[in-house]
Amino acid sequence: MAVKVAINGYGTVGKRVADAVAAQKDMEVIGVVKTKPTFEAQQAIDSKFPLYVNVRENMSAFKDAGLKIEGTARDMMEEADIVVDAAPDGIGIENKKKLYEPLRKKAIFQGGEKSFIAQASFNALANYKCAFGKDFVRVVSCNTTGLCRTLFPIDQKFGIKSVSAVMIRRGPDPADIKKGPVNAIVPDPVTVPSHHGPDVKTVMPDLKITTVALKVPTTLMHLHTVNASISNGTTPEDVIDLLNKTPRVLLVKAEDGIKSTAQIMEWAKDLGRRRSDMNEIAVWKESINANNSNLFYMQAIHQESDIVPENVDAIRSILEMESDPMASIRKTDMAMGLKSWWKN
Ligand code: NAD
Repeated sequence: MAVKVAINGYGTVGKRVADAVAAQKDMEVIGVVKTKPTFEAQQAIDSKFPLYVNVRENMSAFKDAGLKIEGTARDMMEEADIVVDAAPDGIGIENKKKLYEPLRKKAIFQGGEKSFIAQASFNALANYKCAFGKDFVRVVSCNTTGLCRTLFPIDQKFGIKSVSAVMIRRGPDPADIKKGPVNAIVPDPVTVPSHHGPDVKTVMPDLKITTVALKVPTTLMHLHTVNASISNGTTPEDVIDLLNKTPRVLLVKAEDGIKSTAQIMEWAKDLGRRRSDMNEIAVWKESINANNSNLFYMQAIHQESDIVPENVDAIRSILEMESDPMASIRKTDMAMGLKSWWKN
C-alpha cells in the first residue's frame, strides 16, 4: 500500500516534490497547501492534488477566486503518514511547533531551516541510514546537496584530507522578481567560511572543508569550484570513472557545446525534463584536474531541483520502507526518469 504524503507549501520546491512523490509506486500525495489562490494553486488542482489552505482565515480568498479547497493544513495532516514541509525559510520551525509535534506527524524540512530543527540532516548517497525511523529530518540545501553528491564518493574512494570550495551562487530563482543582485558581485557572506562547509559537516561530520560564497546576477544555476587534497593519490581518469558511476551526477563536456550553466539548462529543456529541471549535478569533464594528491573540478547545481529526489529518499528512510540506500535511489530515479547512470 502506498504511504500517504502531505506537502505543506507548494512553491518552487513543494510543487516539484509533489510531482516526484506522485510518480513513485509506493507513495501518494494526499494534499498540498497554499496560502494564496495563485496560478500554482490552480496548477495543483489541475494536477489532481487535493488543495488545502494553511489557515482558516485564508479560506475566503480561495472561495472568491473560485478554487475548491478541501480544508486546512491541519485537516490534511490528520490523514498523513508524513509531511514534507516546503514552506519559506524559517516557517518550517513554526509549522513544527504548531502542527507536526502536536499532531505527532513525522516531517521532512528543507535546507532553509537551521539544522537543529531535525534529528538528522540528509543526503541520500552519504547518510541515508541516519534518517531511518526518525521523526524529523532536514534535506540539506541545494548547494550542500551538490557538494555531498560529489565529495562523498571521492572521499570513500580516494580519502579526502581537506577541501576548499567556492560557491558562485545564483542571485534569486527565475520567478523571483524582488531579489537581486542586478549588477554586482556580492560576497555572501563577506566573512569566511560561508555556512555551506559547516552544513556539509552535518552530513559528512569528519570532512575538513572550508567554503566561500558569492552571489552573482544570474538565476539559472549555482557553480562550484572545488579543490580537494587527496590521501590515496588519483588521476583524472580515476575520478571520471568514479563520477560516471555515481548516481545523480552527470559529466558534461565543453567540447560538446556545454560551456556554461545556460547550455546545461538548454540541454535540460531539450531532454524534455518537466520545468526544464536538471536534478543531477553537472560536472565538467574537462575541469577535472588531478595531480596525485590534488584534485580540482567545477560543477553546476540546478538549485530548484537537485534536492527533489533526496526528499523522496528521505520519505523511504524515515518510514523504514527501504533499508538499502541504493535501492531507494534507484526506485526514485527510475520513477523520475533520471535513468542515465543506471546504464553503467
Ligand atoms: P517558495 O517561496 O517558492 O515556496 C514556498 C511556498 O510555501 C509558497 O507556495 C507559499 O505560499 C507557501 N507558504 C508560505 N507560508 C506557509 C505556511 N505557513 N504554511 C504552508 N505553506 C506556506 O519557497 P521555496 O524556494 O520552495 O523554498 C522552500 C524551502 O526550500 C526553503 O527552506 C528553501 O530554503 C528551500 N530550498 C529552496 C531552494 C530554491 O532554489 N528555491 C533550493 C533548495 C532548498
